[in-house]
Amino acid sequence: MTTRILAAAISLALTLSASAQTAISAKAREIHDSAIVIDTHADTPQRFLDENFDIGSTDPNDHGHISLDKAKAGNLGAEFFSIWVEPEANRGHFAHRTLDLIDSVYEQAARHPDRMMMAFSVADIERAHREHKLAALMGIEGGHSIENDIRLLRDFYRLGVRYMTLSWSNTNEFADSSGDINDPKVAHHNGLTEGGKQIVLEMNRLGMLVDISHVADKTLWDTIAVTKAPLIASHSSARALTNHPRNMTDDMLRAVAKNGGVVQVNFYSAFVDENYRKASEAQAKDRDAAVKAYTDQLKAAGKTPSYVDINRIEREWAAKIPRAPLSALIDHIDHIAKVAGTDHVGLGSDFDGVSSTPQGIDSAADLPKITQALLDRGYSADDIRKILGGNLLRVFAEAERVSHDLRASSHE
Ligand SMILES: [Zn+2]
Repeated sequence: MTTRILAAAISLALTLSASAQTAISAKAREIHDSAIVIDTHADTPQRFLDENFDIGSTDPNDHGHISLDKAKAGNLGAEFFSIWVEPEANRGHFAHRTLDLIDSVYEQAARHPDRMMMAFSVADIERAHREHKLAALMGIEGGHSIENDIRLLRDFYRLGVRYMTLSWSNTNEFADSSGDINDPKVAHHNGLTEGGKQIVLEMNRLGMLVDISHVADKTLWDTIAVTKAPLIASHSSARALTNHPRNMTDDMLRAVAKNGGVVQVNFYSAFVDENYRKASEAQAKDRDAAVKAYTDQLKAAGKTPSYVDINRIEREWAAKIPRAPLSALIDHIDHIAKVAGTDHVGLGSDFDGVSSTPQGIDSAADLPKITQALLDRGYSADDIRKILGGNLLRVFAEAERVSHDLRASSHE
């Protein structure tokens, strides 16, 4: 018995050290560990709320991308947890669900005060880094959360929300979405409405980052024209490499660079690998039918379909397609760095929100592999640290400065 446990322990240790040694050089490890690594999009709050998932989980079989152990292993310094409200199931009470999700993040931080802290500013992220804690920030994914009420936007800011994606895949009262822009049944606005422009300006005044991931192309251009602070794309990749409307064209990348903002690359296999995207599109009809069969069955029984279960079905379908190679993800970072500049690219994994990640990227613990790959492609230590989080910190600091100036001038 003892021998068996010992043998198993030795074999596990060998596997772990072998994968660590072969994958990550001492130099890459040093660069990675000296950086403040920031990821701007993880959907883990759905798990906190619907699955009772504890971020302190040490379950080796857990399929999730984020836990405190995984964050520590990958030296993840700050995570923007996505406050995403599914618009069908939550119709009529978007703000309520938004509040529940915000609470779920606070509750996790309260449970693990020695390893995690709520963060609301650049200074907070830096303090968490010094204290070796995961900085937990929040971004609302989809303007429908504010129920077309600018007062709710301010309330969510006061509760700590530091970015808002103007739309999710659904067009809302003030912003067209890339997700339904070709659906004739949806009433569109030709981009951002006048009210939407006021919302962007209010976000600038508050110091809430304006996120243009998910929006329709015209919404992006309207937003760039009106914003006084640099923008982020919290989780979007490059359309020139993978032709998906969620990704950004080279013109958009250059425009975000000119605006001083940052594009945080999405890890989803279908957004970084054209082969995966096509295969996923080919199975979409059958996959959607399987999800619908599941939700119809639950609705008939008077139950609410859970996002977690839908995600499980989607992961089963995704497993039928070979994952994107890690090089595909690095190609996107490299492309954005070349088109927009190394000051305008970062990481927006979409962890716990996507059904397939590139090979080798199974969780936040694998983030050092990105550093190794960038080093292999000739990126300098300084540029790598910018991509890992420095660029996002610069944009966040600039949004704080713009907010400070706008608040000061409104008192004059
Ligand atoms: Zn998203």
